[in-house]
Amino acid sequence: MMTGEQYEESLRKMNFKVYLQGELVKNPVDHPIIRPSMNSVKMTYKLAEDTQYADLMTATSHLTGKKVNRFCHLHQSTDDLVRKIKMQRLLGQRTAACFQRCVGMDGINAVASTTFEIDQKLGTKYHERFNKFLLKMQEEDWTVDGAMTDPKGDRGLAPSKQADPDLFVHVVEKREDGIVVSGAKAHQTGAINSHWILVMPTIAMTKDDTDYALSFCAPADAEGIYYIYGRQSCDTRKLEDGDIDVGNKQFGGHEALMVFDHVFIPWENVFMCGEYEFSGMLVERFAGYHRQSYGGCKVGVGDVLIGAAAVAAEFNGVAKASHIKDKLIEMTHLNETLYACGIACSAEGHKTACGNYLINLLLANVCKQNITRFPYEIARLAEDIAGGLMVTMPSEKDLCHPEIGKVVDKYFRGVASVSTENRMRILRLIENITLGTAAVGYRTESMHGAGSPQAQRIMISRQGNLEGKKQLAKAIAQIKD
Ligand code: SF4
Ligand code: FE
Repeated sequence: MMTGEQYEESLRKMNFKVYLQGELVKNPVDHPIIRPSMNSVKMTYKLAEDTQYADLMTATSHLTGKKVNRFCHLHQSTDDLVRKIKMQRLLGQRTAACFQRCVGMDGINAVASTTFEIDQKLGTKYHERFNKFLLKMQEEDWTVDGAMTDPKGDRGLAPSKQADPDLFVHVVEKREDGIVVSGAKAHQTGAINSHWILVMPTIAMTKDDTDYALSFCAPADAEGIYYIYGRQSCDTRKLEDGDIDVGNKQFGGHEALMVFDHVFIPWENVFMCGEYEFSGMLVERFAGYHRQSYGGCKVGVGDVLIGAAAVAAEFNGVAKASHIKDKLIEMTHLNETLYACGIACSAEGHKTACGNYLINLLLANVCKQNITRFPYEIARLAEDIAGGLMVTMPSEKDLCHPEIGKVVDKYFRGVASVSTENRMRILRLIENITLGTAAVGYRTESMHGAGSPQAQRIMISRQGNLEGKKQLAKAIAQIKD
């Protein structure tokens, strides 16, 4: 396994082509806007070095019997699924941000079982190829970007019916030695902190979409791949001197548009090419795993936000007020309900034909549906407790100013024993999570990441067994059909 430092060095050797605010970035690792997101992924390596977290951060490879980072592991039991959630909560607590590496973990688990089932039905050799990639990923301890979401253009039209064929990733040429692909993937979490990408289709497909039913892996800096970095609310605060106004100086997350301009993929790296009838299975499994994931990571970030609200209440001198205590209880209740869903869908998981474990899909969808709501309520309560100062107070530069600094210090102090600087720090952290750069992960991603709310409602309606429930009621009411 790599250490945190080795991970950082490995990224420096990559040859990413990244545009950020209209400019080509020379050194993504040290760019002040990108670096905090790298620190979050680095934490997935650093905590794995720490023996006290070995049970959560590492696992035993089913391929080699060797110890691997859990992010490179195929879940071999429901216990593995539960540990995954606990690991994600721990990392959320340590970063208060998106640590990005989960999409690859969810991707490999979905592609493993799907390729196995494609091979079983069609006699293809995808699973064998995939295992070779997985072995290398485990040995090299790669961060892999699981790339699913296409730009999608007109949402009312299938991939093959779009005005522009590149709105979904597709094959433009089939050659003896491989395929050439074009298109793009949007909202790519952690793409510029990843060594490899694992591409998957984004929706269930029909025969007309054969060229779009595609899964493959590629180095994240392969020829023909480039990135356009996504803006985040308040991102340019990271370019300023000082460390108070950013709210979270060390950690962050990122998303980017990943563009494929005629990228060559050798056959050994292709895991689905035209088997459109398996596209829906792959999407459903990846989405299921990622809906589970949020029951860990968002809960960890929620822990930090609840803690920050409690600290702000102390600094404001209102910690003993009964309504404040009650709001903190409500936030905890909501956060632990999310965790309960993450644990439940894991504990109720089952073995797939290939041998790795899949979560309970109904419960994973219930988990994510709650994620589209509860973080918003937790954020609302945090803002309630923090007070309006969180968004109206002056900058760090004003606090440090030789003349007006004294005025800021005087008028923005809460309880006399706490410095104004510390009060500003905790309020800026709440601002960062609820309105700033981390709100991308904590709020809007909670809504749309791993599928928007309606996608979960469709799954809940499919998996909810309403007919079975009707039979139960009829039996009790003694209704004979
Ligand atoms: Fe992992 Fe959560 Fe970020 Fe998704 S949002 S990559 S589950 S930390
Ligand atoms: Fe996500």
